[in-house]
Amino acid sequence: MAAIGFIGLGNMGGPMAKNLVKAGHELKVFDLAPASVAALVEAGAKKAASAKEAASEADFVVTMLPAGEHVRSVYLGDDGLIAAARKGTVFIDSSTIDIPSARETIAAAEKAGMMMLDAPVSGGVGGAEAGTLTFMVGGTDEAFAKAKPILEKMGKNIFHAGAAGNGQVAKVCNNMILGISMIGVSEAFVLGEKLGLDAQTLFDISSTASGQCWSMTSYCPVPGPVPTSPANRNYQPGFTAAMMLKDLRLAQDASKTARTPIPLGAQAAQLYALMEAAGEDSLDFSGVIKLIRGEI
Ligand code: NAD
Repeated sequence: MAAIGFIGLGNMGGPMAKNLVKAGHELKVFDLAPASVAALVEAGAKKAASAKEAASEADFVVTMLPAGEHVRSVYLGDDGLIAAARKGTVFIDSSTIDIPSARETIAAAEKAGMMMLDAPVSGGVGGAEAGTLTFMVGGTDEAFAKAKPILEKMGKNIFHAGAAGNGQVAKVCNNMILGISMIGVSEAFVLGEKLGLDAQTLFDISSTASGQCWSMTSYCPVPGPVPTSPANRNYQPGFTAAMMLKDLRLAQDASKTARTPIPLGAQAAQLYALMEAAGEDSLDFSGVIKLIRGEI
């Protein structure tokens, strides 16, 4: 069993860390929020007094932090994890962050003789709890081979997407598809409704026709056709519009660097930004249908 440092025990990191404890690994955990640390200690992990302490004797270090600035500040510099860990440590950053921060942090780790992967996830809090996350991983073959058994305790589908940063590239591209397709499905259901077509009938037709997609069949933005979708609980998340906006903004930044236009990605970001401006971004992102209905 491995010694694992785990830093960032929030909505995602908390249940991910618990699954590693359940699998028999020895965890040393740190978060700025004492209550999150206490919950993990109750589940069988050891408490570290700092991020550095969590990493200092670990075989693996997993981080699950909000954004690129947090990842940089935790890893880099004289006080960072890279300086604190022993040689041979494998770092796994599962946060969703900007691609330059991921690549720069991994380069710094490799320069110091460590291995590091960017390994963002999809599957949400439910997937984190059930251990069924999808991991999109960037980094060397060697680091991927070492980390895979650890990732398999937290996820079901583990993809090696290529070199450093490519996990973040895959994540940003996937979520841009999701953000755009949810708006497309929402527009279609509102238009159908206004023209006298019942939502269930449109669902029955489109879910077996060429309009079929995940936003419709797993996460339908109108109540009824998919009983488990957030539309059936007043758009309580799920995956918030704020998180979708964060990912679409990362896609915007990446499109500028790559000088690649993403006109629909840009439009989608603007619509979720309207939810933010209206103070409704804590709704599930499928609540964008309320914006299209003129209810926000
Ligand atoms: P969260 O805000 O619930 O958790 C982040 C945790 O990091 C908090 O507990 C915070 O105290 C801790 N933290 C921040 N700075 C720290 C530091 N310097 N040292 C130690 N701890 C620190 O966020 P989350 O929902 O768990 O998301 C984490 C990451 O996963 C984000 O990048 C997010 O985009 C991504 N993600 C989230 C979801 C989701 O559904 N929540 C799904 C996929 C990916």
